[in-house]
Amino acid sequence: MTLEWEAGRLDSDLDGAGFDTLAVRAGQRRSPEGEHGEALFLTSSYVFRTAADAAARFAGEVPGNVYSRYTNPTVRTFEERIAALEGAEQAVATASGMSAILAIVMSLCSGGDHVLVSRSVFGSTISLFEKYLKRFGIEVDYVPLADLDAWQGAFKPNTKLLFVESPSNPLAELVDIAALAEIAHARGALLAVDNCFCTPALQQPLKLGADIVMHSATKYIDGQGRGLGGVVAGRSEQMKEVVGFLRTAGPTLSPFNAWLFLKGLETLRIRMRAQSESALQLALWLEQQPQVERVYYAGLPSHPQHELAKKQQSAFGAVVSFEVRGGRDAAWKVIDATRVISITTNLGDTKTTIAHPATTSHGRLTPQERANAGISDSLIRVAVGLEELQDLQADLARGLAAL
Ligand SMILES: *Cc1c(COP(=O)(O)O)cnc(C)c1O
Repeated sequence: MTLEWEAGRLDSDLDGAGFDTLAVRAGQRRSPEGEHGEALFLTSSYVFRTAADAAARFAGEVPGNVYSRYTNPTVRTFEERIAALEGAEQAVATASGMSAILAIVMSLCSGGDHVLVSRSVFGSTISLFEKYLKRFGIEVDYVPLADLDAWQGAFKPNTKLLFVESPSNPLAELVDIAALAEIAHARGALLAVDNCFCTPALQQPLKLGADIVMHSATKYIDGQGRGLGGVVAGRSEQMKEVVGFLRTAGPTLSPFNAWLFLKGLETLRIRMRAQSESALQLALWLEQQPQVERVYYAGLPSHPQHELAKKQQSAFGAVVSFEVRGGRDAAWKVIDATRVISITTNLGDTKTTIAHPATTSHGRLTPQERANAGISDSLIRVAVGLEELQDLQADLARGLAAL
């Protein structure tokens, strides 16, 4: 049998290709079988031709796979595709978004280093720093995300890393990434951005000057609520440290989840655009409802950082948070009245989700930490999916009418 491999061209030539082309094709290297879809390499180890070949690969003298904690072809395709989309020299996949954050700190910081973290980060991110990383001598201070003067004033001689989410979860606060990168670099520190809420389809932090970008791929990159994963991207100088930590400590991405995420990336931009558009319409509608006290969405002209959002993002994302009059009871009533929207804390799904941050994602924080993060008892977070807008509105209108 003559395989297509021998007959001619197998892979795409992507020189100068645009975002959507890279999202569909980057990183794929076809095997001699000529498969059109990305191959799923469900294997934990790899065979060697001879004992000498094994020795040479283990010694790093010849390239090649050894063990899937080190490298896996499906995971590598995902990493190369993310690197292409973020404009990074290299990307490294992890088992979850949290292990991406852990890998950044473990590989780039040591005991005695100081890290500045935005106050408005994912609840588990604060727990990771407070309960675990501090025990190993990492000093941590929290800074209000948008306040550049506060960032300037928070530096210590040992500040190594700045960590932010922009836009933040769940209040859609932003920081001027280019300005913060300049501040970090002037003090010899690195800026890491959790780009979970925008994805590279809407915002590319490395192009704005950040040094490291990371994701919970569990969210929009998968896009369909199926699997956990994460990824870190940046310059090879830092990424080789991240690779070293991951292959030693082990929170690497499963090839099956990498394969799911490759399928997710193919539709990333059209999903992000459609979900952002619905979110904007929903936010505008919520702002008109008398039972709603305040809407948090950077696409609203009333949002204090609307101009900044227009400058550094190409759309505003799919998460809309709002406060209702009447505290926790009112918020729970609105949530419980939904019949289409799912009550779940995940986001980034094609299915719209609704959650009460104060008693779920941010429930493990102390009341003080929660207040610092701006999470009130009357806050509801909706992560808009791909259903019809009118069905989502009707679902929320029912609960609002009952207040
Ligand atoms: C979900 C999330 C994480 C954590 O990711 P996991 O994949 O759940 O570990 C980190 N940052 C943000 C902004 C998130 O939404």
